[in-house]
Amino acid sequence: MTELNVIDLKASVQGTEILKGVNLTVKSGEIHALMGPNGAGKSTLGYVLIGHPDYKVTSGRIILDGKDITGAAPEERARLGLFLAFQNPVSIPGVKISTFLRTAYNQMHPDEKLSLKDFFNLVKSNMESVGLNESFISRSVNDGFSGGERKRFEILQMLVLRPKIVILDEIDSGLDIDALKQVSSHIQREYNEGIGFIIITHYQRILKDIRPEFVHVLMNGRIVMNGDKNLSDKIETEGYDWLKEVA
Ligand code: ADP
Ligand code: MG
Ligand code: MG
Repeated sequence: MTELNVIDLKASVQGTEILKGVNLTVKSGEIHALMGPNGAGKSTLGYVLIGHPDYKVTSGRIILDGKDITGAAPEERARLGLFLAFQNPVSIPGVKISTFLRTAYNQMHPDEKLSLKDFFNLVKSNMESVGLNESFISRSVNDGFSGGERKRFEILQMLVLRPKIVILDEIDSGLDIDALKQVSSHIQREYNEGIGFIIITHYQRILKDIRPEFVHVLMNGRIVMNGDKNLSDKIETEGYDWLKEVA
């Protein structure tokens, strides 16, 4: 059982306060949708949670399984099981997929000594299940990936690395219906395995398949409303404007 607690979290980017007191608890086997208009601070929250160096926590705490990780290095957070699939993953020319995954795997599971062959087989079988063909493994990270390949690669990372809490930022953007269905079914499968999810999304298309139990709306750096599927349904028909009055 894993539990992530975000307590009155405030954070700034380049001297501007973006998160203005966020509270959120996510446990194993829960799916949380984090919704909100563009510029609300959704991605910022994701980056702050995984410890991106550009984002400074100015107050509040991030607790993972009772351990204060507010100031922990990204590698330490990853080792403890926190994973973010980036919205706009940077390309790392020259770093092969296989090397990238193995380095990340060893960071997250330092006690598991998988042989190169076993690791390769693990990656290969998961590549097949996310619909990436075999030649993919020898390409460089995100170098010339299509939109769909990026998203599939994010899901591949999740399947190979086996984190405890997964943050998916706009995993649904730019995916066609079939790819979206496939991604949703992988999320569903991992959910059944007990992984906790924060699914960041602007639209609610992906939520139709996934049906999160918890829906949070972030506006102007604060969670202004908590609810369930009914809340995301309401947002689909009415947008975010009505929430401005509540916020
Ligand atoms: P969302 O993901 O909800 O669309 P973001 O977290 O990307 O929102 O952005 C929230 C605000 O923070 C925006 O006003 C954005 O311009 C600003 N911001 C985010 N990242 C940076 C950055 N690296 N440098 C400067 N401003 C940033
Ligand atoms: Mg955005
Ligand atoms: Mg964003």
